[in-house]
Amino acid sequence: MERAEAEQRIQTLRTELEEYNYRYHVLDDPTVSDAEYDRLMAELLRLEEVYPDLVTPDSPSVKVGGEPLPYFEKVEHRIPMLSLGNAFSFDDLQDFDERIRRLSGRESIDYVCELKIDGLAVSLRYEDGVMVRGATRGDGRTGENITQNLKTIRSLPLRLRELVTLEVRGEAFLPKKEFERINRVKEERGEALFANPRNAAAGSLRQLDPKLAAERTLDIFLYGIGEMEGVQNPLTHTASLDLLQKLGLKVNPERVTVKGIDDVMDFVNHWREHRMELGYEIDGIVIKVDDLALREQLGFTAKSPRWAIAYKFPAEEGVTVLRGIEVTV
Ligand code: NAD
Repeated sequence: MERAEAEQRIQTLRTELEEYNYRYHVLDDPTVSDAEYDRLMAELLRLEEVYPDLVTPDSPSVKVGGEPLPYFEKVEHRIPMLSLGNAFSFDDLQDFDERIRRLSGRESIDYVCELKIDGLAVSLRYEDGVMVRGATRGDGRTGENITQNLKTIRSLPLRLRELVTLEVRGEAFLPKKEFERINRVKEERGEALFANPRNAAAGSLRQLDPKLAAERTLDIFLYGIGEMEGVQNPLTHTASLDLLQKLGLKVNPERVTVKGIDDVMDFVNHWREHRMELGYEIDGIVIKVDDLALREQLGFTAKSPRWAIAYKFPAEEGVTVLRGIEVTV
């Protein structure tokens, strides 16, 4: 593609992706499938790779999430809440592993594989063991204060089992059965249906009436520590997850720590086949470097950590419910 043509296409893609981001992240009401969004984003990334001088700091390729809604109190994330790089094939996973081995000089890397829960990323702050605040990811630096809504999640402890001060991150979600129940009620009332469990969870948590959130049985899995005081810092991600669980926080049991990328692929293959058996939706597998010192060394790009990647399940395997209409994509 000629430069002038590429420049024009980049502009079109940015305008479209910005609109889709706004619908998805701010309004919780998407108008295109995730697969379509991912296809357009991949095209933008390819063009920006060919013409790096056309990359701008406000391109959707380097921006996280969406602006916080104005009617929520804002919460600054002391450690940014970023997005994840995507892998769509085993070749992409091999490239990820090769890059990490090259940067670290190690022959083999230990990885933690986790389910990629399709919900809303949240951050929780506990002070001396007591939950004091909960926030959305927002644009990664500033989120929305949704403490009262998060407190309605029954599986989220208001008090930890030890007096630690920590910021913990996770994914709030709506189990499939609960999503179906809510949409049945909405249908009976003649109200617009939620497009999918992810939007239903986000819509429930990002509204001002905690009574509404309490009527919906939301759930949460915690998957990472932002910062922590009062306990010795773990050396591996595996130890962090064990610690969260020991503190009384809910960690997804379907996780493994493996040596090398081949075992990662086995885990991915297993869940590609079995994900429909879960009581909640997942849209992929998150693969994270286990050694926290190595993570520090690898660092971050503007949008995501270099030590993790999200393998997204192929779209044709899934069924997307968009605006109440079931579409096989
Ligand atoms: P992402 O969904 O690809 O990955 C990052 C997120 O994964 C994290 O913020 C976290 O919330 C979540 N996550 C779930 N389980 C996790 C685990 N075990 N460990 C770590 N993180 C975990 O990136 P994103 O920036 O949140 O969103 C971009 C994606 O959202 C797109 O790829 C697309 O699928 C979707 N999207 C869709 C539309 C649309 O219009 N359909 C618009 C914008 C974005």
